[in-house]
Amino acid sequence: MPSDPAAHEDPGEANGAAAEVIPEPEPEPPSEPEVLSLPASTSTSIGHPTSGRLEGGVALPLQAPGLLFNPSKDPGSRYGTVELVAGLVRAAGTVERASPGAPLTVGDLAREGGGEISGHASHRTGRDVDVLFHLRHDDAEGAPFVPSKAIPLDPDGRGTDYVDLADPTDDVPVRLDAERTWSFVAALLADEAAAVQRIFVVEHVRSALLDEARRVGAPQDIVERFAEVTCQPRFPHDDHMHIRVFCSPEDVAAGCEDTQPLYPWRKQALAAAGVKPVISRRSGDEDAKPKSKPKLKTLAQARAEAGPMHEDVVEFLDRRAAWAKQPHPGRRWCR
Ligand SMILES: [Zn+2]
Repeated sequence: MPSDPAAHEDPGEANGAAAEVIPEPEPEPPSEPEVLSLPASTSTSIGHPTSGRLEGGVALPLQAPGLLFNPSKDPGSRYGTVELVAGLVRAAGTVERASPGAPLTVGDLAREGGGEISGHASHRTGRDVDVLFHLRHDDAEGAPFVPSKAIPLDPDGRGTDYVDLADPTDDVPVRLDAERTWSFVAALLADEAAAVQRIFVVEHVRSALLDEARRVGAPQDIVERFAEVTCQPRFPHDDHMHIRVFCSPEDVAAGCEDTQPLYPWRKQALAAAGVKPVISRRSGDEDAKPKSKPKLKTLAQARAEAGPMHEDVVEFLDRRAAWAKQPHPGRRWCR
């Protein structure tokens, strides 16, 4: 983790032998209301999502109303652009006010200065974030499953927290909480400042969220936006969503590079801000390649490393192969 530029030696009083070294406290990351009041100029996202960096990255609060940074993740990987971090805080707060008691669990954003981050090809410019699905216990009560975990969901939206993979007695069945998950996605998509470009998510969760949107009579423009920005991932994305936001108009001028597609609404927003879009030359949907190859595990490798598993886990993983590479007819590949 890069050292904090704000940290400095405090010379204090020269007090001879009695001088005690008092470590300077870590500077507090901005609280939730502070995050929401930061100006757009706080952060600058530079370059392409798979090769760029981040200046003035804002730390996502470890906890805010309706939101929790995944406690199993490195807190040094929770920096993003002010637009993305504020967007997550606002959308999670909206869900919390409507259906309290089940916070969104947020995974990795970027390192403080962006750049390479373990386990991800992108996440380098502060414009990418992984969020877990809201889940419920899959029983008669259907209480929220809190805190959420990265649990792969099958085409019925069901999965299992296997806990100890070798022990069948500690398994907890869960299912997608489509209500809260849609509510979060809809709030984020409606947030013009956040400007969601893409959501990487498996087809069956996408369909379940579209069904939920119809059930609650969501505004047509938001439903269409969701259908448009959800792309076909190369990895399953059946246990989380990867969300990417566009460069802010200020950042475009500072060297932030968007990727295709550029939707008509995005062109209008940039034109209104008097900014010409900068599209990375390496952004063709199929041929954008990161400069250095990230070390990403294949499903087979992850499975081999997981150790002993009881037979239900093996059966689930066998079934998972069927949807991991399921085509999404007519949809663009995610890059
Ligand atoms: Zn991701």
